[in-house]
Amino acid sequence: MDLGTANSIIIHNDKIVVDEPSVVAIENKTDKLLAVGTPAHQMEGKEPPGIRTVRPLRDGVIADFNAAEMMIRGMVKMVSSKRHWFSPSLRMVVCIPSGSTEVEIRAVRDSSEHAGGRDVYMIYEPMALGIGLDVEAPEGNMIVDIGGGTTEIAVISLGGIVSNKSIRIAGNDLTTDIQEHMGRVHNLKVGTTMAEQIKINVGSALPVLEDPPEPYIVTGPNRMTALPMEVPVTYEEISHCIEKSISKMEAAVLAALEQTPPELYADIVRNGIYLAGGGALLRGLAKRFTDKIRIEFKVAEDPLHAVANGTGVALKNINRFSFLIR
Ligand code: ADP
Ligand code: MG
Repeated sequence: MDLGTANSIIIHNDKIVVDEPSVVAIENKTDKLLAVGTPAHQMEGKEPPGIRTVRPLRDGVIADFNAAEMMIRGMVKMVSSKRHWFSPSLRMVVCIPSGSTEVEIRAVRDSSEHAGGRDVYMIYEPMALGIGLDVEAPEGNMIVDIGGGTTEIAVISLGGIVSNKSIRIAGNDLTTDIQEHMGRVHNLKVGTTMAEQIKINVGSALPVLEDPPEPYIVTGPNRMTALPMEVPVTYEEISHCIEKSISKMEAAVLAALEQTPPELYADIVRNGIYLAGGGALLRGLAKRFTDKIRIEFKVAEDPLHAVANGTGVALKNINRFSFLIR
């Protein structure tokens, strides 16, 4: 299971069986769980009275323990209802952000056990990603995971994390940049879901792309008059409005490289840097980083599922990988 700030994924028998936004809907009066994942996400921003939506993870850590437990339970239940033969007492590997504290690790373990996990192991995210490479090799590899709330930069070698750095600038910040830009420049009020759509359709980390997307038509209310407007948005303008945030990610990678011991640094230059998480899908990002940092950035095969896939491999090699946490 990959518990992400934006999306949570469960892999069972090598297949993705749950892939849902990390949101729950809760009834205010009773604190009862009403919906998990997509149906809860659909309520976000339009919650009916008496209902709140909660994203249990924020900035890569559990911000709401209760909601996190409800979410884990709800998602594990989705698997069992889809497959009646799914054993309720399972062996689980849960991925946790590399900066997790003891308390957070315990909370994830408790929640997973309450959800039916019998044998629960944890794995740090960069290690899960590294499984796609050769984590046990005596070689330095750098991994950059751009999720919803945090960008995690880690250097791994010999089955361990040599160094890691986490900044709270990631996919959600790009979405916020776009939301503010639409209001300020176009007087158009857009919600986060629409801003995210703009990012996915015409987001770009470069002001010039070889294979540019068509302008994306955005409709919404004028901020002043509340009358409906239609604005075509180009990737060039989005590249400008997210420039600052992208530069901060770039600076964090450079800072991490600066702190890397020379031998590992040489390995990284030779191996390239591995880019994962939903943010890796941003147009031009890998090229921009490659041009600026002069080390090749390689996008993971399926960036949104790379952590979960690695976690699945860990599950099948429980006894082999010493970096799994009991
Ligand atoms: P987390 O691990 O924190 O749950 P994910 O790896 O699932 O995060 O990535 C989620 C982030 O990736 C969100 O901010 C989302 O908007 C962003 N994202 C998803 N698809 C794209 C895309 N095609 N282009 C740019 N950003 C994307
Ligand atoms: Mg993630």
